[in-house]
Amino acid sequence: MSKIDGIRFDDFGGAIASSGGLGARLWPPLDGERSGTGDLGTITLGWLMGGPARGDAFDRHVFACLIAAARAETAATGAPLNHGLGLTPGDTAALIGLFFPHATGLTALLSCDGGSGTDAIEEEDLRDLLLDHRTMGVEEEVWLAAMVARRALRPNHLWQDLGLVNRGELSRLLNRHFSPLASRNTKNMKWKKFFYRELCQREGVVVCKSPHCEACDDHALCFGPEDGKALLAN
Ligand code: SF4
Repeated sequence: MSKIDGIRFDDFGGAIASSGGLGARLWPPLDGERSGTGDLGTITLGWLMGGPARGDAFDRHVFACLIAAARAETAATGAPLNHGLGLTPGDTAALIGLFFPHATGLTALLSCDGGSGTDAIEEEDLRDLLLDHRTMGVEEEVWLAAMVARRALRPNHLWQDLGLVNRGELSRLLNRHFSPLASRNTKNMKWKKFFYRELCQREGVVVCKSPHCEACDDHALCFGPEDGKALLAN
């Protein structure tokens, strides 16, 4: 058993009530948890989406995928759920309460420090870039900016590390909530490459080897396919 930031986990990543619960497991109470973190993410996704419908259907799907992907990591790393999302415990609890009120047991996996985990280099810049280009200016977009910036640190395609079904869902998410920015990706660059180029341009740094993509040696790196297998079974 381990204890991180005030959360107690059993040997399989299940959260244990730290006080008042007499050691009762809060989440997940489902069979199959111990068969692997991928399964745990998929189980979490099904559990989240199986509750009463709240909010916009696409947004709800996206948030469920993000939480499930981060939940799978908590079992493997022991890190608090909100650190995998780049959110404070308060924002994570607000998100769960708004879209998944049947799943408030997940708040047992939040950190007790009030923070969102340590920012990596460029994370704040990407978060700010997204925040500066919100479509509607709603709270959900503040959460999404933080979550996309945190998950962009993971090693897979961004759509995979957000727990989404395919790249098309990421494009839809970015065009829906960060339209002024996403609409600038007119040539369909890989999203991480596009963000990186945008951040460099903001700083006045030229990263391109050529004035024209068509004549550039890095064309395949910037525009290659973002195919792959989804990390969660949807
Ligand atoms: S292909 Fe070359 S010129 Fe085009 S965005 Fe990539 S690095 Fe820049």
